[in-house]
Amino acid sequence: MLDSISLQRLSQVHPVLSAKVQRLAELLAKESIEIRVTQALRNYADQLKLWQKGRDEHGNIVDGSQIVTNAAPGHSWHEFGLAVDVCPFVGRSPDWNLNHPAWKRIVEVGESLELFSGTQFHSICDTPHFQLTGKFPASPNDEVRTLLRNEGIEAVWKASGIAANLAVPLLSPISPYPRTNAIAGQNENTPDQYKRGLC
Ligand SMILES: [Zn+2]
Repeated sequence: MLDSISLQRLSQVHPVLSAKVQRLAELLAKESIEIRVTQALRNYADQLKLWQKGRDEHGNIVDGSQIVTNAAPGHSWHEFGLAVDVCPFVGRSPDWNLNHPAWKRIVEVGESLELFSGTQFHSICDTPHFQLTGKFPASPNDEVRTLLRNEGIEAVWKASGIAANLAVPLLSPISPYPRTNAIAGQNENTPDQYKRGLC
């Protein structure tokens, strides 16, 4: 259902999140809506690069039109493999037009699978974003940042308790997280017309 690029991106996030996004794609396909996973796991450098857009070296906003995230490095669940961004995939291309009617269904069906939608963020409405954080709060805290730094992403996943609440069958086997893989540049660029926020 999902294209190979989407599946490759999903292979780097928590397997339950991956399974839910695959289920999301299956359910949407029944309504003739195709989706692409545009962003999945990011490393610190990826997040820093996104956060620096529109900001000076002190982190002050100098060009609001260039801002794509309010999440400084360490503050996005993407860095923990617990968030993905998806968008309608029309004619084999991502369609970033938020007026596209598919967005509403993507959010509704995602929420029905108990994914937390970025439309629920108070600071920005981040429509493409879904996260699954288990016992952790909507934004990463010091506890989880310390855990990632000291023990790695699998320790974060274990502490999240997500596996214990697996509500959908895994569609693919759990693959070990490639700790040393360079993933910078792997995620899809955010097009200029998409300025609404990206956590
Ligand atoms: Zn996101």
